[in-house]
Amino acid sequence: MAEFDYDLFVIGGGSGGVRAARISATHGAKVAIAEEYRMGGTCVIRGCVPKKMLVYGSHFAEDLHEAYRFGWDIEGAKFDWPRLRDIVQTDVDRLEGLYAVNLGNVGVEIIEQRAVLTGPNEVQLADGTKVSAKYILVATGGWPAQAGCPGEEHALTSNEIFHLEKKPENIVIVGGGYIANEFAGIFHAFGSNVTIANRSDKILRPYDQEIVGRLLDISVAKGITYRLNAPLEKIEKNVDGTVTVHFKDGGPSQTADVIMVATGRVPNSGNLGLEALGVDLDKSGAITVGDDNKSSVDSIYAVGDVTNRVQLTPVAIREGHAFADSVFGGNPRTISYDNIPSAVFSSPPIASVGLTEDEARAKYGEHIKVYRSDFNPMKNVVSGRDERALYKMITQGPEEIVIGIHMIGPESSEILQGAAVAVVGKMPKKVLDDVVAIHPSMAEELVLFK
Ligand code: NDP
Repeated sequence: MAEFDYDLFVIGGGSGGVRAARISATHGAKVAIAEEYRMGGTCVIRGCVPKKMLVYGSHFAEDLHEAYRFGWDIEGAKFDWPRLRDIVQTDVDRLEGLYAVNLGNVGVEIIEQRAVLTGPNEVQLADGTKVSAKYILVATGGWPAQAGCPGEEHALTSNEIFHLEKKPENIVIVGGGYIANEFAGIFHAFGSNVTIANRSDKILRPYDQEIVGRLLDISVAKGITYRLNAPLEKIEKNVDGTVTVHFKDGGPSQTADVIMVATGRVPNSGNLGLEALGVDLDKSGAITVGDDNKSSVDSIYAVGDVTNRVQLTPVAIREGHAFADSVFGGNPRTISYDNIPSAVFSSPPIASVGLTEDEARAKYGEHIKVYRSDFNPMKNVVSGRDERALYKMITQGPEEIVIGIHMIGPESSEILQGAAVAVVGKMPKKVLDDVVAIHPSMAEELVLFK
């Protein structure tokens, strides 16, 4: 008789947990995965995937507006939020189903219940059943931070925003990071009055601030309001259903249909039984793990946002895959956290890889060169849209090794993925110079830096 019910029990059916479960099963492990909500996790159910669909929906606003100058008469165009919302949710349902099918195809048992740890090799399900496993992988992700002020219960987060009954006429978004800037672009395009309120005067802090400055300029010109250095004091619900937000900046309060808080995500490690088992957590509540994803308890591992290393889906997937290969595939390996490309799906989007100009100066002093291309995309020339793109490339040393690429402009997230090879591959700029441009394109700017 086997010593344990399972070789691996995964808690959390998000990007990291699903990948770890699936690959472990293909390596021959007997695997179960427990998910208390919906298979697919934040990214698929209420994050990257439905958000990107809303971004696509938002692009039509400007395209329809500019269609005339491309020869098209568009009459009677109007936006229907419930239609888009429901179509997006239908696709989310489809994807959720696919996740379950893919896990089933490799023999992973899906348990649609909350599971908590009750021993180094034991979990208890919500129905009281206890099961044992040689290894337990915690992949419970993160949870949106709350407003942290009186009345915080009147604010929505990214968990709820996809399900709004109607499009808000006025929305205040608290925070200045990814989610705030992405949803500001989305709702502005849908016709809402949007205010971003941030506690400091810096938005998108990890990004190259010259690129971020361009987003600010474009967004303000479009009509998005930025209220900076404005920490929250309290939120009040009014009898007509609206909410009023009071700030500590001495300025006026603001009333809106919706207040959305996007001030980061906290690791989802509470009430899982971790502390009682001696699993070390850091002060943010993240499970502390080594490069091998192992926690302070030998049989318990963790991947993804619950470890608060880099809160990005592709990173969680890599961690989950490396865990499975290491523990069940006879191929112990770690992943690299260097030069991770990323994008903000703002309007226009930002994409980035490697060191920002400030980081490069701090590290290499004067031994860097900064190349810039500040240009008007051809489509904007025809449409008359006043939104210049800005690309930056940063090189280091006499060989001009490419150490950073930062972009804002249409399709920058699509363009940067390929260009990131230059940074990850530590290529000299000359390699890019040797590439013949594809003309006319925006991407050609990357091989024409002078
Ligand atoms: P971010 O970490 O991107 O930004 C948080 C923002 O909230 C910052 O402006 C920060 O200000 C502010 N903030 C932090 N703490 C507080 C506080 N206590 N009170 C008031 N303001 C505060 O968080 P998001 O919520 O936008 O996104 C969460 C994570 O999800 C991201 O970090 C990212 O990893 C991931 N994500 C990725 C996306 C993508 O890849 N495109 C899209 C959406 C989310 P300050 O800078 O001053 O600390």
